[in-house]
Amino acid sequence: MPLAPFAASDAASRGRRHSEVAPAYRSEYQRDRDRIVHCGAFRRLEYKTQVFVNHEGDLFRTRLTHSIEVAQIGRSIARTLQLNEDLTEAISLAHDLGHTPFGHSGQDALNACMQEYGGFEHNLQSLRVVDVLEERYAEFPGLNLTFESREGILKHCSVKNAEQLGDIGRRFIEKQQASLEAQVANLADEIAYNNHDVDDGLRSGLITIDQLREIRLFGKQYDEVVKRHPGVTERVRIHEIVRRMINRLVVDLVDESRRRLTASQVQSIDEVRAAGSSLIGFSDAMRDESLELKRFLRTALYNHYRVRRMTRKAEQIVADLFQVFMGDRRLLPPQFQDKLEAGQGDALARARVVADYIAGMTDRYAIREHKRLFDPVELT
Ligand code: MG
Repeated sequence: MPLAPFAASDAASRGRRHSEVAPAYRSEYQRDRDRIVHCGAFRRLEYKTQVFVNHEGDLFRTRLTHSIEVAQIGRSIARTLQLNEDLTEAISLAHDLGHTPFGHSGQDALNACMQEYGGFEHNLQSLRVVDVLEERYAEFPGLNLTFESREGILKHCSVKNAEQLGDIGRRFIEKQQASLEAQVANLADEIAYNNHDVDDGLRSGLITIDQLREIRLFGKQYDEVVKRHPGVTERVRIHEIVRRMINRLVVDLVDESRRRLTASQVQSIDEVRAAGSSLIGFSDAMRDESLELKRFLRTALYNHYRVRRMTRKAEQIVADLFQVFMGDRRLLPPQFQDKLEAGQGDALARARVVADYIAGMTDRYAIREHKRLFDPVELT
């Protein structure tokens, strides 16, 4: 199927920071995706928490499987809307590259540590990973991705930080939109985590089917599955419900976005960027149901006392590591000490190097590193 006129295309791309010869048999966005899949930060997603800490169980989502689910949902939506599937895939796979260990608690803890030093935002860190921190190519730092992939990765950004970012930050100051592909990846992220957190939450036993039946989005699918397949096991029942929820959200999103795209009459990616609001979205009724589910997950799962206990430990680990490295740079591994030598050497620069080191850690690496530094009987 040909791309719609409002889709991102190689021809309309704003290009790469360091110009390169066009790839022989791939599109520019396929090349972006391939560079993301081959980078070290992508592999580390396997051992970073989504909600449950990695070692809590082999069946729970990690940031890697989450990112793959986001890409799957995003590609389905992009293809149906005749958008650039490769770009949506690239953004989806890269969107969490800058995430700290221990999910949102890790990010909040690092942000708290970084308050005096410009703060820590995980979207900005994902951009930093692909722009600067990945050291793999001879001719440029980072992965040298296209403007459109970078624009999609930088989902949110404070105006203060946007001012430091040049062209990629401008839309936050001028209140412009990102490409439709970026908007799709953003909502695919939401669809993915709401649904897999229901699945993981049930598997963990922290939330129950009875609680979820009260939530409209889940309850409706529950009734249908029980009516159609009364004799199935609970595991199959849950999967049948979750797959229907994903499908309902995706279908609603496609229908509503089609309606908005037609009404807006946008004809190019630049018109998409200049549109007053995002053109990809759920209907009001579905947004409402999705929010209800989100609120439930926040109260019942993310704030469950057992999750809170893990969160508490994660905050402590991140805060301790930050403190100890800020206090004595000689405790950092040599390659990070080298980065300090190369930098300006002030506290601001040191804090950024320490934050980069901590943000790059997997859950288990952070736990081990904490042990090595704080446990007096741990000798290695
Ligand atoms: Mg995500």
